[in-house]
Amino acid sequence: MKISLIGCGYVGLVTGSCLAELGNKVICVDNDSKKIARIKQGKIPIYEPGLEELILNNVKKKRLRFTSSIQEGVKYSEIIFIAVGTPPLENGEADLTGIENVARHIALNLSGYRLIVEKSTVPVETGEWVKKTISTYNKHKAEFDVASNPEFLREGSAIEDFMHPDRIVIGVESKRARDLLVNLYKPLNAPLVITNIRSAELIKHASNAFLATKISFINAIAYICDKVGADVEEVARGMGLDKRIGQSNLSAGVGYGGSCFPKDLDAFIAISERIGYNFDLLKAVRNINEEQKHFILKKVRDFLWVVKDKTIAVLGLSFKPDTDDIRNAPSIDIIKELLHEGVKIKAYDPQAMNKAKEVLDKAAFCKDPYEACKGADCLLVITEWNEFKELDFKKVKHLLKRPLIIDGRNIYEPKSMKEKGFTYVGIGRGRH
Ligand code: NAD
Repeated sequence: MKISLIGCGYVGLVTGSCLAELGNKVICVDNDSKKIARIKQGKIPIYEPGLEELILNNVKKKRLRFTSSIQEGVKYSEIIFIAVGTPPLENGEADLTGIENVARHIALNLSGYRLIVEKSTVPVETGEWVKKTISTYNKHKAEFDVASNPEFLREGSAIEDFMHPDRIVIGVESKRARDLLVNLYKPLNAPLVITNIRSAELIKHASNAFLATKISFINAIAYICDKVGADVEEVARGMGLDKRIGQSNLSAGVGYGGSCFPKDLDAFIAISERIGYNFDLLKAVRNINEEQKHFILKKVRDFLWVVKDKTIAVLGLSFKPDTDDIRNAPSIDIIKELLHEGVKIKAYDPQAMNKAKEVLDKAAFCKDPYEACKGADCLLVITEWNEFKELDFKKVKHLLKRPLIIDGRNIYEPKSMKEKGFTYVGIGRGRH
């Protein structure tokens, strides 16, 4: 099939290259012409495991190409996915400027039937607006359908998530649209949830809100564990083995971040308010998540006493492992606050340092975890990259000024760290 993807970010690039890998002819469009020029030179603007090879391979096989002309994208394909960003406005609502702009430009270039698919995360009823917008600017009165096909991939495992999804949600209003999307996704052999557009839009918001709720729930439990001397890792395992609860998203830590959970939660709260529902539950989820950053800062102060002029080695800057994405990363707020309090930061991250340098000009960036630890008063882990789990702790202990580890993601075992001679502070792991 011929497919166009509008928006070459995390979702657009992954979706476009995976659909090409499945044998489709794909054109990816972005209005950032510099980005497109770089991609055409083989320079992939984001880090996502396996993505670069997938893109280069499919370009070579002539199944994937890139353009900054939306007109070309609309002319080329019967199915057009909209995967542009939907960032938050100041009041928490989603900024749908990009969606409106793309819908309008699709309409202005429509000449024959096209299926326009919302891939971006959007508030319920956006599909209606996309339909109205296209009808308004559709000067040749071309036939079209709108569908919702929300994306559930996780950065860091996005290709695997796309190729092996738990389910594919398809919100449609015509048989033609349904058949096109069902055929497109047939090779993935995944369970399909076929519903109307509004339900599909709500499935995405409700899913992200529920996952964020699980994280804040376990973080609240972690707080109690710290107070009473229980271990949240064992509590979470004991809970998660119950199939009704499940293990996923039950990791206590410095809180969720990224470009999705915080913004999608805000947008869901805002849209609920607009239709007259006060979503107190989600407001509490958001508050607990904010509190986690203060929780870790308090631990730092509790152990270092006066933090001014101390040096802290920070491991992990991306909002989660295996990505270079620092949007809403807890690391940024935590480091900014420490810098503000006069702490010297020596940071290391396997992929996110270039992006972090743009927002943390007063931090020092190191070539590896050991350089970060050299002469530091404390080691603070913020993102659970695998390479941090296997450090040479003899070396770390020798390099640190004092053997103090504050583990914001519970990646180490308290007992083993104690045996290695460290003072170990986790999240919700009792007193050590
Ligand atoms: P992103 O910011 O990485 O990429 C968006 C791209 O769209 C950018 O390259 C931008 O230049 C381009 N763009 C913006 N306006 C445009 C326009 N008018 N015409 C053409 N291109 C335009 O965003 P992302 O992380 O890929 O997210 C895209 C959407 O998917 C968002 O709604 C997000 O909530 C949702 N989503 C993201 C993830 C994720 O993990 N990143 C997962 C599921 C859903």
